[in-house]
Amino acid sequence: MAKVVCVLYDDPVDGYPTSYPRDDLPKIDRYPDGQTLPTPKAIDFKPGALLGSVSGELGLRKYLESNGHTLVVTSDKDGPDSALERELADAEIVISQPFWPAYLTAERIAKAPKLKLALTAGIGSDHVDLQAAIDRKITVAEVTFCNSISVAEHVVMMILSLVRNYIPSYQWVIKGGWNIADCVTRSYDLEGMHVGTVAAGRIGLAVLRRLKPFDVHLHYYDRHRLPESVEKELNLHWHPNVEDMVKVCDVVTINCPLHPETEHLFDDKLLSKMKRGAYIVNTARGKICDRDAIVRALESGQLAGYAGDVWFPQPAPKDHPWRAMPHHGMTPHISGTSLSAQARYAAGVREILECWFEGRPIRDEYLIVDGGKLAGTGAHSYSAGDATGGSEEAARYKVA
Ligand code: NDP
Repeated sequence: MAKVVCVLYDDPVDGYPTSYPRDDLPKIDRYPDGQTLPTPKAIDFKPGALLGSVSGELGLRKYLESNGHTLVVTSDKDGPDSALERELADAEIVISQPFWPAYLTAERIAKAPKLKLALTAGIGSDHVDLQAAIDRKITVAEVTFCNSISVAEHVVMMILSLVRNYIPSYQWVIKGGWNIADCVTRSYDLEGMHVGTVAAGRIGLAVLRRLKPFDVHLHYYDRHRLPESVEKELNLHWHPNVEDMVKVCDVVTINCPLHPETEHLFDDKLLSKMKRGAYIVNTARGKICDRDAIVRALESGQLAGYAGDVWFPQPAPKDHPWRAMPHHGMTPHISGTSLSAQARYAAGVREILECWFEGRPIRDEYLIVDGGKLAGTGAHSYSAGDATGGSEEAARYKVA
């Protein structure tokens, strides 16, 4: 029987909810590319409930315990004295969400001799040292597509709120003012702007599709080109490299995974090639941007705004410079963990666990590493190596 360690974010400060603003979730049958939603044999939760926090337990306890397994749920994940480090000694499966990532560095993997499966309840497994997982033949899987549309919606919201200067204008209302000129001296229309995505995978393409009705010029850079029919439908301009794209864009949205090829891609050099006054929206991973270079670009006016929900490390220490930099629209990492998304990824985790325990293959599209190599989605979208370096800094959130 297996020990499953599940690292989840804390419950709301006022306690686990007893009611919700809405009574149900819309029914979605398939993802836009035809992929089916998760297909577990059963679920033990009500879609729409808070599942991603400690008391929600991803709805897994009944299923795991009735099959004789042990489930440990904790939010205490950082530092050598954390519950996660203690529990790793005999854990077979570690489940983690990117919003509150259990960093599985090579050192931690070495402390987990029984670890066989690292399961991401969400998308993006960069919190696992993928090279160490490859070397140790640990399977890494995630719930592909579960929150891609959630993020795409968030990206559109953030682009509009930056370009139209929504957040500072909202703050004038809260402060009791009516300072129209202060609100509009940084406010523009999106119409006619050039908007480009770094990567046109599930999220990137969904963002492009959602932006099309805004009458903007659409651009993308990706290692693989989209089908010609899609390029035509969206009047899309493909760029062979990222520099070529950012030079012409007013808005750049980052939608690629974090892996050694994309780590610190947006550094001083690349930012200096962007149009003065461009905006960046990054909901992919914080480390794709050089933290201090972003601050410098906002302070100098090279960037007019930066928004997103991803930081490095997570949780961001209380003195993380992105909390205080000018013209930002940052939130904690939330875009992929709406209550709607949680229902899908909790069901996906259950599907993967059922496959694992019943000896059935995990869907290829969920696999990142398997059998000592990148596999499934991982083989297409990631590169081998490690992007967890520096993650121990997350422990500073506790003390800062
Ligand atoms: P996909 O795998 O569908 O898309 C990723 C795309 O990135 C692929 O098209 C891939 O290209 C491309 N890519 C990979 N490396 C590069 C590179 N070096 N240069 C250019 N393009 C590259 O994933 P999703 O769209 O669903 O998710 C993307 C990322 O978004 C996740 O990995 C995760 O980091 C983040 N995310 C954030 C969430 C949040 O809550 N903020 C939630 C969900 C995801 P190709 O395969 O063609 O080589």
